[in-house]
Amino acid sequence: MRSKYERLQAGPRASELPEMLRSEFLFTATYWKCWKAKELATVAAQGTEESSYKLLPKYFYVVKYANPGSITDIKTEKDDKGQTRFKYAFMALKACIDGWKHLRKVIVVDGTHMFGKYKGCLLTASGQDANFQVFPIAFAVVDNETNESWSWFFEKLTEIVVDGSDLSIVSDRANQICVAKDKWYPLSHHGCCLVHLQRNVDAKFKKRNHKQMVGRAAEVFKISAVGIILRRSILGIGQGHTLRYNLMSSNIAESLNKALVPARDSPVMALFEFIRRMISRWFVSRQRKISKMSGEIPPAVDELMENNIEDARAYAVMPLSAFEFEVTLKTTGFGSSVNLETRSCTCLEFQKVGIPCRHAIAAAMFRDLQHSEFIADAYLKKTWNETTKGVTLPVPDPQDLFIPSEVSDLIMLPPKTKRPPGRPPTKRKRSAGEIPVRPNLI
Ligand SMILES: [Zn+2]
Repeated sequence: MRSKYERLQAGPRASELPEMLRSEFLFTATYWKCWKAKELATVAAQGTEESSYKLLPKYFYVVKYANPGSITDIKTEKDDKGQTRFKYAFMALKACIDGWKHLRKVIVVDGTHMFGKYKGCLLTASGQDANFQVFPIAFAVVDNETNESWSWFFEKLTEIVVDGSDLSIVSDRANQICVAKDKWYPLSHHGCCLVHLQRNVDAKFKKRNHKQMVGRAAEVFKISAVGIILRRSILGIGQGHTLRYNLMSSNIAESLNKALVPARDSPVMALFEFIRRMISRWFVSRQRKISKMSGEIPPAVDELMENNIEDARAYAVMPLSAFEFEVTLKTTGFGSSVNLETRSCTCLEFQKVGIPCRHAIAAAMFRDLQHSEFIADAYLKKTWNETTKGVTLPVPDPQDLFIPSEVSDLIMLPPKTKRPPGRPPTKRKRSAGEIPVRPNLI
């Protein structure tokens, strides 16, 4: 089975091994025997965790050698004995840096625990591509989730993602993220993710049943307007906490976390290599999907449009001018005003999301206009292609390259942190459903 863990792959999980042994070799083994074998195979193939920290500078060097323009960094600290120890590591691949330039200016940042001997956290920044799929931007492994480590991550991120009032940073409501965001991204908006918001609302307004109201509001407004309404009427959240776009941040962060699970107990270098391979694979598979597209609209956007078209049939349209319309629900008479020239609607979805809402579609149908003309460029095939066309090349063997002495001579020991005995938590650390809501955040 050792070969399955080689080339820095995550390999099968211990729980999968008994069945694999049974079917491939007609051999039975207990779970614990498999678990131990997996540990040994991983060490044999990927090296020990200690050696992985030592090799990381060389690995980053060859990543950049194979993929020029990628950004990596390592921060170390001196321990009591004056030895150099790992503190943080950062990696953003060239393909992601280039692709980000064509994405909508929304990023989701998230932190997740690692399961290895030296624990640590994996910090991620990602966006959403034209087909609503996770678009990874940058990754960092830090010894711990603190104000300082988040701040370091955001500082590195500013080399890729430029601060501005057109940028939204979405995260759950961890205080450390807010502090780091305010320092490095003072101009951008900060939205909290809907699922956490909903849990917080649930925790605070249990009796008054506001949770459903938030859910309903989110459904109706596809997030964009919920922040404004909530801020004013329910939560009294401070300035700057607005929700923007239809970006279901929690879906983005959680699907990324899920993809990374197989590597979260890998030594640090193997984890970064897993990420590199994952990104390379995702881009190839998206390019394949793009090459098979018949029209200009990616499948997920098409699906959303189909739903909106279906909903649009329930509306009556009254033209107010060449481009302005009053669009009302036939059953209740309530409705919105749509302006097809400015691509806006009083429901806010059209202008915030960039995809025509049901009201706008009703208006477009009234004028016999193609709805697809009103989809923002960010959701079209050409943009999707631009974002995912970067190629990430495999890393060469460091032994085949000349590595400068400042890289090869660096002796970096593992971080001071070490996982306490016992099973590590397998869930995301912060979840307002599980911990009391901190009053200062509501
Ligand atoms: Zn609308």
